[in-house]
Amino acid sequence: MSEPIIEIKGITRNFPLGSEIVKVLKGIDLNINKGEYVALMGPSGSGKSTLMNILGCLDTPTGGNYILNGKDVSRMADDELAAIRNKEIGFVFQTFNLMPRTTALDNVALPMVYAGYKKPERNARATEVLTQVGLQDRMDHKPNQLSGGQRQRVAVARALVNHPSIILADEPTGNLDSKTSVEIMKLFGEIHANGNTVILVTHEEDIAAYAHRVIRLRDGIIESDNVNPNPHK
Ligand code: ADP
Ligand code: MG
Repeated sequence: MSEPIIEIKGITRNFPLGSEIVKVLKGIDLNINKGEYVALMGPSGSGKSTLMNILGCLDTPTGGNYILNGKDVSRMADDELAAIRNKEIGFVFQTFNLMPRTTALDNVALPMVYAGYKKPERNARATEVLTQVGLQDRMDHKPNQLSGGQRQRVAVARALVNHPSIILADEPTGNLDSKTSVEIMKLFGEIHANGNTVILVTHEEDIAAYAHRVIRLRDGIIESDNVNPNPHK
């Protein structure tokens, strides 16, 4: 049960800013096991999104090592990293990041296009995950014909479509009202119960309360890392 899926040692991330170098992540050590449900918290600018982008293979660290599912992805070239990302990672964003002129079905099926599946398989699987998130009667709707909560459900379905081992969500409820946020958190609870590893960023304690482990980042280092003894359901 305690099989590591993420093993991070001494990760740093610097960004050039004019003639300066900004040190955003200053040495992160972090292990996450398969099936964990983790909330990442911390003040604005503490490096949460920078860390999530590295975890999600959207970015690579300046220094240190990242082993994802036993594979060292720390210095991987972009195309190889993209292939790993498409297979292992489902990413959910605060602003949904859906294709505006494309139906829910086609938005969800898009990662399967990159993975090389044919249309009948894509449509069958996209229908399956849209049904899983409760949108079986909204599949032909475009994003602007859906509510914020429904758009985020489409984004969650898209994140699930290629059977990733990790779901990463960067402030997934940041643009939603509190009632809709609870619905989305119940959905993440189901995804976790299905065996996925779930890592989400939030700055709301009420949202972090759903996770089983809470990690706090401050100024590019891990300030605390605690088990939540009584997670919300
Ligand atoms: P958080 O998500 O915790 O609010 P971020 O990880 O987005 O924080 O950003 C942390 C710091 O890194 C900020 O000061 C931000 O300006 C800086 N930063 C993030 N990405 C870049 C980038 N691509 N180039 C330069 N600075 C960046
Ligand atoms: Mg952020």
